[in-house]
Parts: sequence; C-alpha cells; structure tokens
Amino acid sequence: MQGTWELAGTPDEEIERALAGADLRVLVVLLAQLTGGDDRWFQPRYQPAFDINLFSDPDAGLSVEAQAEVRAAALEVLIALRDGKATLPPPPDEHLMAKLMTLCMGEPVGPEYAPMMLEQLGFRPADVELPEPPRREALESFHVVVIGAGVSGLCAAIKLERLGISYTVLEKNDSVGGTWYENSYPDCGVDTPNHFYSFSFAPNHDWSCYFSKRDELHAYLQSCAHEFGVLPHIRFGTTVVGADFDDEAGVWDVTARDADGNELRIAANAVVCGIGQLNRPKLPTIEGMETFAGPSFHSSRWRHDIDLEGLRVAVIGTGASAIQLVRTTAERAGRLTIFQRSPQWVLSNPDYYREVDDTKKWLLHNVPHYAAWYRFILFYRFADALHGALQIDPDWPHPDRSINAQNDRHREYLTRYIRAQVGDRTDLLPKVIPSYPPWGKRMLMDNDWFKTLKRDNVELVDDAIRRITPTGVELADGRLIELDVIVYATGFETTRILGSLEFRGRGGQSLAERWGDDDARANLGITVPGFPNLFFLYGPNTNLAHGGSIIFHAECQVRYVMGCLTELIARGAQTIECTPEAYEEYNRRVDDAVGRMVWAHPGATNWYRNSAGRVVCNSPWRLVDYWQMTREPNFEEFRFDGAAAGAGSTELVAGAAHATDGR
Ligand code: NAP
Repeated sequence: MQGTWELAGTPDEEIERALAGADLRVLVVLLAQLTGGDDRWFQPRYQPAFDINLFSDPDAGLSVEAQAEVRAAALEVLIALRDGKATLPPPPDEHLMAKLMTLCMGEPVGPEYAPMMLEQLGFRPADVELPEPPRREALESFHVVVIGAGVSGLCAAIKLERLGISYTVLEKNDSVGGTWYENSYPDCGVDTPNHFYSFSFAPNHDWSCYFSKRDELHAYLQSCAHEFGVLPHIRFGTTVVGADFDDEAGVWDVTARDADGNELRIAANAVVCGIGQLNRPKLPTIEGMETFAGPSFHSSRWRHDIDLEGLRVAVIGTGASAIQLVRTTAERAGRLTIFQRSPQWVLSNPDYYREVDDTKKWLLHNVPHYAAWYRFILFYRFADALHGALQIDPDWPHPDRSINAQNDRHREYLTRYIRAQVGDRTDLLPKVIPSYPPWGKRMLMDNDWFKTLKRDNVELVDDAIRRITPTGVELADGRLIELDVIVYATGFETTRILGSLEFRGRGGQSLAERWGDDDARANLGITVPGFPNLFFLYGPNTNLAHGGSIIFHAECQVRYVMGCLTELIARGAQTIECTPEAYEEYNRRVDDAVGRMVWAHPGATNWYRNSAGRVVCNSPWRLVDYWQMTREPNFEEFRFDGAAAGAGSTELVAGAAHATDGR
C-alpha cells in the first residue's frame, strides 16, 4: 500500500477541496500517525465514534468544530509535505500501530493485529526472502508448476517471479482470473469491498465502485499478471490431469492436456495447486432435467447468445450467484420464477451500487497513507469483528433460532430489515425469513433482492420441485410452470476439493483415495504427509465465511509456501514434507473449532459440509490467527529429505523445466 504521492504542484485550494470529501476517521488517524503519535489526536474531542455500519459514517461522529479542526490540520500537514517543509515519519512501531488502530475504529483493537496490519498496509515488508543468496544453479534448476491462474495461482506466480524461482503456470482457460473469468452472468460482481478485495501489494485506487463488477475484477487480475511479469510463464488452454511423485528423483511428473487433447508432461520440483473451491458447477439431479426443450445452463456458464427479453425464465437456487443475477434477469424477462429450496439471510448494503467519486480516488492516490488506513477500516470491519457471532454458546437458551447473544441480535436486526423491505407484501414473509441462525449459510448482500421479489413479473416459489418436463417445472402439488429458459444457480462441487485431479505421492499413494469422495484435509489447508513438495492454495478448511477477503487468505498461504520453498532451496534438500503428527494435530484442532461454529448447526444446510456432516471448506480461525499460523512455516512440522548442499537439486531438475508435448 506504500506508494508514490503526487502532491507536488497541487494548489492549496485543490487539496482543501479534496479534504472536504475525506473520511474523518482516516484523517484523524493519519494526523496521529504523521505526527508520530501526538497526544492531541487521541483526545476524546477527535476520537472517531464506534460504528457498526459496513461503511462507517465519513464524519466519524465528530462535532462540526472538531471536523473543521481536523481538516485544517490535515491541510497544513499536506502543504508542508508538498513544499518539502516536512517529511514522512518512519513507519509506526507495533505499540503506536495498536494505538492508531484503536483510535481509528473507536473500539479496542487487539495488539495482535499490529504486526499483521503493519504488513498489510505496507508499513513493513511482507515478502519472504531467500535466507541467503543461494547458489545460482540451485535456484535456476528448481522448477515449480502452479496449477491455475485464478487469484491464488496468480499470487503464487507473482511471488515466485519476485524470488527468481523458475515456474510454469498451467491454466485450463484462455485467460487469467479463474472464477472472475468464468462467471459472467448479469450483475456478477464482488460483495467484499474492493479496496480490501485486492492484493495488498497491488492496490488499485481507481475502482469505479465500492463493489466492482466482474469485468473490472477480471481486468484488475489481468493487469496484475501483466505488471508483475507472469504472463509469459502461463500456458493457457492447458488442463492438468494429475501428477505422480517420483520417489527416487524427488520430482513431480505433472500430466496435462492442451486444448487439442494432446498430452504434455512437465517435471517439477514442487507443485502449487490453486484450482479453487468454486468452479466445478453442481447441477441438481431433478427427474426429467434432460427432457426440457428450451435452453438450460448453469449460472457460471451463462449463455450470452440467448436474449431473455420477454421470455419465461426460471432461476433454480437462491445463493450468492442467484441473488446477483435475478435483478437484471427480472428486468429483461417477461416472467421470472425463482425456485427456492431454503431462504437466505440478506444484509442491507446501501453502498452496493455506489460509485467511487473522483475526490475519493484523488485522496487514495495522493494523500500519503490515506489508502492504507482506508483499507484498514474495511479490513477490520469486514473481518474478525464478526467472528464471535458464529461461535456456538452451549448455554444459549434459544439454540433453535440463534447460537449466542450477538448472533441473536443479528437475527433481530436482519429480521427487522427483511420486514421493512417486504413491506405490504406480507405473503413473502414466511418464505424469506430463515429459521436457521444468521451466518449458518453465507451471508448475502442486498442488491435489491427484496425489491426484485416484489416485482409484478417475479414469483418466488418455495414448493418442492417434482420434475422437469419438456415445457417447464412441475411442482410437488402438480402445478406446472411453463418456461422458456432454466438457469441453474445451484452452486459448485465444493467439498470435492481435488476435482478430477489425481496426485500420486510417495509409494504411489493416491490423494483422491486418502481424501475419499469429499473428506479433504491438509495441514493449514496447505500440505499433506506422503505428498512432498505439494502445496494447496484455497485448500481444505480455508474458505472464509465469517468475513474477510479470500485474496488476503491467498496471500497468507502463498507466503507460507514461499517460506517452505526458499527453505528447501537454501537447505539443498530434495523434499519438504509435512509430518503426520502435525497434520493430525492441526485437523483435530480444526474439527474441534468448526464443530463449535454456526455451520454445524443442524438447521443450516450449506456448501461447507461434506456428506458426513464435517465442515471441509471453511476456516474456523480469525484472520489474524491464520495470518500468524502461516506467517512462517514451523519447520519442526516438516521432514526434509534428499541430498544436502544443493547438489541433489541440480541433478534433480535436469530437464525439469522442459515441457514436452506428447509422450
Ligand atoms: P450456493 O451458495 O451453493 O447456492 C446454491 C443454491 O441452489 C442454494 O440456494 C441451494 O439451495 C440451491 N440448490 C442447490 N441444489 C438444488 C436443488 N437440487 N434444488 C433446488 N435448489 C437447489 O451457490 P452460489 O450461489 O453459486 O454461490 C456459491 C459461493 O460462491 C457463494 O457462497 C460465495 O462464496 C461465492 N460467490 C460469491 C459472490 C460474490 O462475491 N458476490 C457471488 C457469487 C458466488 P439450499 O440453500 O437449500 O442448498
């Protein structure tokens, strides 16, 4: 988040005008930081108020007089910086950082957040370095295959590029972006604020909206791939089939197929798998589906060739994808029928479609550290602040409707909101108020969902579907709904973390067999004993469902993987492999923690649990805890094997970097 600031040549009046539109919460903390912690800014008069809104009040609850004083002081500081009469102070230390964070949020922020935020905001370097310059040949001869060029795979590629480790990214699609490439349904976009939902090392001060749409997100990821020089290392249109570990050579033999079906094989010292949890469409198994005469498709395979204008359209499912796409679909379709199996909790978000104005962009670009503190506010508000609401209180007297007192307050708040939105359409109420506790499924953001449900041409059907016929959907009570198009917004094969990939590790053991159909486990979601030099990104139990940004999590995992790889290279060993003890102990802790969280509530169905009821997708940890766990690998949890002093590495990888088409 550090950057170059362009105050030079900006007239006083322009700075003053921009400050009039600045977030006071940011300005107060900036003044406190830039003055090295001047007591003045910690006085109650300037203390930003505690605020539970997703986007806090830009006036921060300060009196009009205090606001004017803050703006005037900020103007003075910025003019002094512009004119070279002042310089930026050194980055805050952890003590000051903790004070600044608490000041900024108007609530105590634990000191454990200080080191994490110092890195996230760019006040401290976050990258892993090679312990000491390794022998050039050890580095040059080491090759990594990254599977997938989505958010996680790109992040890994960018960091490998930075370290000078050679790598190839194999990507099945023709473009980077993963989920942000594949999903292109109407109104597809992010519902984590973009100034947080972006790489910490690649801030974008030009997001057009606070929650940007798919094209802009995809363009951002493309520009990252270009800017960090990873594009030449990506083989597009190449689908990895699996990889076999060669026990003797200590390398992975990765098999893939290109778009023409040709097989290619690459030897790799390490494999980083970033295939994602949310990209294998899950179609329902409804009797007669194949008989439907019109077009039918999954939400992530949107048919842009079909004009929905005036048609009778069905959307099956009411998850995050459905809620986004129905708004625009309802505006085009002649009639829209939404088939709901279970209702979702939906949170108010007045900023969902708000654009970022030019003043805000100017501040982000030009005011030192403004972007960093703005990111901090979003980070904190969208992350661990909500973690407590997901923890089951065993003594809570109303376990049917909520899981603890905070969760119950959320339920009341959300219910009030839904009632207000539904208004006089009270017939909708029994359909849209969930019985399970808030956070039992992924929380959705209101993008006019309730308004859409109230449209004359929209019907929300919560009766069970009996079958699909050539002309429509037949309900359990025999009613037939005639349709032209069916959209399956029915989610993804999330618990089958490997998809169709086959990894064969030491002794030819199969990871698919180890994990079974849907019971994936890994140490920190990243490594598995018996599968040396293989690393998962967005692997088992790393999905975030209390808040946070999956991009942040990817950065944590990639940093950990880079820590493992640099250590491996520095030691000149062949393999790094997680111990069974570490793996078992970690998964015991995960199971214990997730079992005490809302996702295990018997009333909540969600995509996080496998067929046996175990939560395999979600991380139970606060972001700050996972950041700490992944910051540096604990090498006592690993076994290093193979030739020391790097000689083995050089031999190992003879030919490793060469892809050979055909066998
Ligand atoms: P999802 O959350 O799994 O929702 C699938 C929907 O289909 C649910 O309403 C489900 O009902 C219903 N369904 C599944 N099988 C059905 C069947 N046989 N008959 C009737 N209904 C059926 O999938 P999604 O909406 O694609 O979202 C998946 C995840 O992707 C999200 O949770 C989120 O993490 C991510 N996502 C994010 C964004 C964003 O950032 N804005 C947007 C889209 C997706 P039940 O609830 O009863 O199972």
